[in-house]
Amino acid sequence: MADLKELRELTGDENGAQRVAWTDTWEQAREWLRGKLGGLPLEEVIDQAGNQWWTLSGASDRAVLIGGHIDSVPNGGWLDGALNVVAGVEVVRRLAEAGQPAATVRLVNWADEEGARFGRSLFGSSAAAGSMVDQDELRARRDADGVALPDALSEHGVDLDDALEARSQLEDAAAYLELHIEQGPVLESLDLPLGVVLGTFGVERHQVTFRGQAAHAGSTPMDKRRDALAGAARLELEIREIANRTGNGAVCTMGGVVTRPGIVTSVVETAECLLDQRHLDANQLAEMLSNAEAASRRFAQEEDIEVEWERIWNIEPILFDESLIELADESIREVAGGQSHRLPSGPLHDAAEVARAGVPTVMLFVQSLRGLSHTKLEDTKEEHLELSVQALDRLADKTIARVAAE
Ligand SMILES: [Zn+2]
Repeated sequence: MADLKELRELTGDENGAQRVAWTDTWEQAREWLRGKLGGLPLEEVIDQAGNQWWTLSGASDRAVLIGGHIDSVPNGGWLDGALNVVAGVEVVRRLAEAGQPAATVRLVNWADEEGARFGRSLFGSSAAAGSMVDQDELRARRDADGVALPDALSEHGVDLDDALEARSQLEDAAAYLELHIEQGPVLESLDLPLGVVLGTFGVERHQVTFRGQAAHAGSTPMDKRRDALAGAARLELEIREIANRTGNGAVCTMGGVVTRPGIVTSVVETAECLLDQRHLDANQLAEMLSNAEAASRRFAQEEDIEVEWERIWNIEPILFDESLIELADESIREVAGGQSHRLPSGPLHDAAEVARAGVPTVMLFVQSLRGLSHTKLEDTKEEHLELSVQALDRLADKTIARVAAE
């Protein structure tokens, strides 16, 4: 708690945390972190993507990684990312003082998780995971002051052309653990301090366009209309039913509908809908999508209009490791009075990149007050923060034992 408050004091102001990656304040935070681990038998390296690693050598070379990100959004909260790293420091400190662990333990401070300055999230972890494939696009990115991304990175010792060489850091990785604030309202509504994250949602985003016929609002009888908005309206109500029927955290959102000609004296000729569907299970996500498609065709037929689907973006669900989920559940129940909860994550995290790279991964969520983050109002009860560090500590011990025995 003292460390977290010290960091907040050092790198925040009256508007919140200011640890934006690739800035002097971020560098100051990295230096502060280095100081916190000084005097321990650790080896520090900064990899080619700017990720900061500390290694505590164990009897086995196979490594248990504990990760987080010290960067924040501008005017951000004091816990998003920082809790993860500071909790990791606490665990590594305790392990180092206890002598050589059975497996190697590495703490990583990922570079630029938030993407606040250049609009590219998960920079360091995607480089280490090998999933960074947009280097040409990154080269052309500029911040609000016109500074090019490669120039800002080189001021901090990172050459964008070499960033993917950070992949070698995951070679001996046997497990990855990350504690994070929930950034949502679920744990608070259940009155639980901690939860285990099952993975990150898969997402399907489509533009659904209904086409009918513009016609005069006064002269066209109700039974002669080909009203595109009728299809959109019926689909909006249907996707809520689809999400409810599917359950297990399913969410469907119609984020916008644009109607044309969009005047009060005409029946709507075209209605363009933006549809977002999310689920942790790839099959159930695919089923929600095909149910929505089928419903849209039925409505189109009944309203005598046409419908067309176009995919905007999608990503598959990224699932965390089942046996680590069990260990995390056990750790939480031990420190939190026998109660735990399993939940998916809406936002992506560095952990998702590491999991995508094939490293068994799990995350712990600690309750966020009012579900708020990315604002100075972001907060968590101190007693819950303390429990979260204890849970991560237990989980680290259990994972080290598991990895050493494999
Ligand atoms: Zn974060």
